[in-house]
Amino acid sequence: MTSYVNLHSHRKPRVEGEIAIRNAYLKNVNFQSIQYPVSIGIHPWHVHKTDVEKALTLITNNLNSIIAIGECGLDRVINTPINEQISVFKAQINIAEQNHLPIIVHCVKAYSDFANLAKQFHNVQFVLHGFSGNSETLKMLLPFKNVYFSVGKHLFNPLSNASIALKEIPFEKLFLETDTTNLLINNVYIKAAEIIGIEETVLKNQIFNNFEKIFINKKK
Ligand SMILES: [Zn+2]
Repeated sequence: MTSYVNLHSHRKPRVEGEIAIRNAYLKNVNFQSIQYPVSIGIHPWHVHKTDVEKALTLITNNLNSIIAIGECGLDRVINTPINEQISVFKAQINIAEQNHLPIIVHCVKAYSDFANLAKQFHNVQFVLHGFSGNSETLKMLLPFKNVYFSVGKHLFNPLSNASIALKEIPFEKLFLETDTTNLLINNVYIKAAEIIGIEETVLKNQIFNNFEKIFINKKK
């Protein structure tokens, strides 16, 4: 049976056959005790209260224990100046590039800033998590071969763009996730399959292939 890949979760796996990339917090991560894939990064919300140098060292010291960098990124709704956010994000993209790791991205109202970086770092694979961008945003980002999209809780919000985006994202660029919610990943797959109008098994196989391509069989 194919696994349910959960691209981004703040919880331990909760469903049989779930492969969750768990977002670990830099401060209290204990890699010895973790039995599942983990990502670490400096979230834009935490930039202002983080000793960035120390956090970057922590990331570089634990590269063998992580499957991705993140979540990190850009958020134009918070007070931290965007230039400061870009500099911290860039430092993490550099680590990802040097170590052939993908990046899980938090991006809020900063898609143009993000696109500039995706263009500059074309060897790095970026996954925009919690994606709910509109068609215009998607049109701008789809030409990037190194940008992927992960959709989750917004699929359950009828007012969100996520369901429309889901139908426009090519299958080979798609992931699903639960993030901080109580959702079970199998229910996200059922919902997504229903919206797209395909068999859940087809979706599972496709997303598992995407996962293997970007997170497992990376070019060294
Ligand atoms: Zn998250």
